[in-house]
Amino acid sequence: MAETRHTKVLIIGSGPAGYTAGVYASRAMLEPILVQGIEPGGQLTTTTEVENYPGFTEVQGPDLMIKMQEHAQAMGCEIIGDIITDLDLSKRPFTAKGDSGNTYTADAVILATGARAKWLGMESEEKFKGFGVSACATCDGFFYRSQEIVVVGGGNTAVEEALFLTNFASKVTLIHRRDELRAEKILQNRLEKNPKIETLWFNQLDEVYGTDAPLGVEGVKVKNVKTGEITDIPCKGVFIAIGHAPASELVKDTLDTHMGGYVVTKPGTTQTSVPGVFAAGDLTDHIYRQAVTSAGMGCMAALDAERFLAEQDD
Ligand code: FAD
Ligand code: NAP
Repeated sequence: MAETRHTKVLIIGSGPAGYTAGVYASRAMLEPILVQGIEPGGQLTTTTEVENYPGFTEVQGPDLMIKMQEHAQAMGCEIIGDIITDLDLSKRPFTAKGDSGNTYTADAVILATGARAKWLGMESEEKFKGFGVSACATCDGFFYRSQEIVVVGGGNTAVEEALFLTNFASKVTLIHRRDELRAEKILQNRLEKNPKIETLWFNQLDEVYGTDAPLGVEGVKVKNVKTGEITDIPCKGVFIAIGHAPASELVKDTLDTHMGGYVVTKPGTTQTSVPGVFAAGDLTDHIYRQAVTSAGMGCMAALDAERFLAEQDD
């Protein structure tokens, strides 16, 4: 049966920002409720090795997120498997509606809804999504054993995905629209050394083609951005790795956003344009977008919420 729960601090999101906020808000005796959303553990659950989270020379992304969840729970954070579908920030207590039918009211809200994969927006990409076109190598790479694959993008995600996919694929072609990668040098070095990966510079995906019954990819046509020349690349899998967009749908009409939807916070704090509402992690960060920076902002959001609530009690 649907119920209404009240909490001093409602944390929305279960990535590094949300769980870290959970640890700090619990230790401040705020008895927070954390709603996990559709992707418990957040983006790191879609990757393999994480090598840059302090304290771990190497850890699997999903394992790190389980440790963070356990840490938050051990400190007293209540973790709920629900998705917030509506958030009313017009008056306090704030009200959030869950997909479960439950309602959550809160004296302060910490938004940590992170970011989601971007797509190119092509008709043929949409047609084969889930049938050869993917944005998650860790989730879908296994389906392409001994097959040829293309990866689109030039950032850390694209290079990591290309490297990871060589575990399965016979060949990986990385398609990038420029002749320079954004990815860290260490990843670029690994890419260059990998004999299974070929990089096609100055090219963009033009079309994904394949069969209708059964629905499946047979190849892509790519276009040289300088010459317009079209090249046909036969492949069974297409991984789009062109970055992420902030998951700010819940608040895009109620909070100040910028740079394509990132929630604006007061410099040096996690305070949004509505007092009592704090934002942390990739939702608000268009520059660093790392697990450790998200965790740091989660800590800041909990401390900011604690200070805000203490001021209300004065
Ligand atoms: P996210 O991890 O994006 O989590 C967002 C959370 O919000 C999710 O739990 C989701 O379910 C929840 N949510 C969204 N909407 C709702 C809603 N309506 N209701 C309730 N909950 C909701 N960073 C590194 O530092 N090192 C790496 O090695 C690294 N590797 C990466 C590999 C890949 C493939 C990707 C995609 C990213 C990688 N990153 C890495 C970046 C890192 O994952 C992010 O910076 C970090 O996860 C952001 O954390 P976050 O807490 O802000 O949000
Ligand atoms: P990103 O750094 O924003 O890179 C996106 C890439 O996709 C860029 O190379 C961009 O090209 C290309 N691109 C964007 N739109 C395109 C389009 N329409 N058509 C063709 N190409 C397009 O995104 P990301 O790689 O997902 O990384 C996101 C954040 O997560 C970064 O901060 C990154 O450091 C972090 N991350 C970290 C790790 C790690 O630390 N190991 C791993 C993964 C992600 P241009 O270069 O030409 O703009």
